[in-house]
Amino acid sequence: MDLTLIETMPLGDIDGDRTEQFLPLSVVRDRLARTWTLEDIPFTTGGPARYVRVRETGGRIGFITPLTHNFCETCNRVRVTCTGTLYMCLGQEDATDLRAPLRSSESDEPLYRAIEDAISRKPKGHDFAIGRLASTPAIGRHMSVTGG
Ligand code: SF4
Repeated sequence: MDLTLIETMPLGDIDGDRTEQFLPLSVVRDRLARTWTLEDIPFTTGGPARYVRVRETGGRIGFITPLTHNFCETCNRVRVTCTGTLYMCLGQEDATDLRAPLRSSESDEPLYRAIEDAISRKPKGHDFAIGRLASTPAIGRHMSVTGG
């Protein structure tokens, strides 16, 4: 059995206290390691999970740790919504409208320029924090807006 877990992220307004849902995966890994032998492996799906092999079972566990060990330094992802908004980072508000340049000309040049300008602004990473002092979400947008 392969498992992938993920730390809760401060995206979108929700009811309730998010700190009650946050469990650092470093803690999960430590607890699992009391019973099982976890070996880091270079396996990748191209996504953000880091994998270990469970020696005793041969199973694979993927940890997605946006808070305790973020993976922004290797991120080359952007997302386009169905309404033509290009988000350069899930953890930041900056975005570019691609509809206007797409519709402004029969040439693709305005669209290419808009994409290149947006990519040049891709941030280095998010500013997520979960704690008693961070009572509002880092980003008001829910994951479902950008897909994912
Ligand atoms: S927070 Fe932004 S930079 Fe970090 S992995 Fe997500 S999309 Fe990439």
